[in-house]
Amino acid sequence: MASHPATWLRPLPQGLFCEPGGFFIDPARAVDRAVITHAHSDHARPGHGHVLAHPDTLALMRARLGETRAGATHQALGWGEAIVQGGVRISLSPAGHVRGSAQVVLDYAGRRVVVSGDYKRQPDPTCDPFIPVRCDVFVTEATFALPVFRFPDPAGEIARVLASLAAEPRRTHLIACYSLGKCQRVIALLRAAGWDGPIHLHRAHEVMCATYEALGVSLGRLVPATEAPAGAIVLAPPGAAGNGWARGQADPVVAVASGWMALRGRARGVEAPLVISDHADWDGLLTTIGETEAPEIWITHGPEDALIHVLAQRGLRGRALRMVGDGEAMEPAAGAA
Ligand SMILES: [Zn+2]
Ligand SMILES: [Zn+2]
Repeated sequence: MASHPATWLRPLPQGLFCEPGGFFIDPARAVDRAVITHAHSDHARPGHGHVLAHPDTLALMRARLGETRAGATHQALGWGEAIVQGGVRISLSPAGHVRGSAQVVLDYAGRRVVVSGDYKRQPDPTCDPFIPVRCDVFVTEATFALPVFRFPDPAGEIARVLASLAAEPRRTHLIACYSLGKCQRVIALLRAAGWDGPIHLHRAHEVMCATYEALGVSLGRLVPATEAPAGAIVLAPPGAAGNGWARGQADPVVAVASGWMALRGRARGVEAPLVISDHADWDGLLTTIGETEAPEIWITHGPEDALIHVLAQRGLRGRALRMVGDGEAMEPAAGAA
């Protein structure tokens, strides 16, 4: 007998809770049983009892949080595999956001819900591409759910950095990017653009890059930022790029790789704003929602009003899920925006 997903999947203060399965998805606090979409800090909190996730997400969680804080027990679920817990069938489909990032597919009582986690539709050679899954309810992230967000081809953004370096070869080019996902994608974009020289890394990026390489993603020659000569390409977290650490580099050109750079106000004062995001832009969100064929969309992790309005025009039902930690999605420092 079919029963509406709202009766078995509920937003609680800790996060989205699947009652018959007895687990939370990406809970904001430590819980007994968690299913984790990906290893970013706002989704993969420390201290859970049991963690179910894609094997690459588990590897990244261990690298980020340490063996014990990444969860007492781990269960890996690869693409195409499924387990049944309390009558709920759980499987994962790639989300294309960062390495290991997954949509959680739940089948219960004749209904299917897909929880997207974070996702993007632009190509990214460092992770598996997003695969849409037809469902009754699609729970979508909404980090950039405003029509103002339309992201360009990232190859054009990276080309500007290399052009700037060619024009000013004595200046270090410092690219601010989040350490998990964005950093490795920027490296892949630089390699695809023909940069085969060394890329210098801030310490915070070294662990994540080493984990990506262990998972089979080749990043080319990586060198500590402490050894960067004038005119090097240096990658650092957004926090470090704006402080005294950056001034230690040779007359740096500071670039910032983020979807937020699409906003003129955010890009003001940044010498080289790069609109490179690991999230879906406005068109990406709408395309994806259409591909799921879901009549009902639950929205989390960002502003929902514009999306609900457009969905209503298309005869789709939009519902805002307000959970603890949601507001953080609006802050560029919170994730890999
Ligand atoms: Zn994320
Ligand atoms: Zn997120």
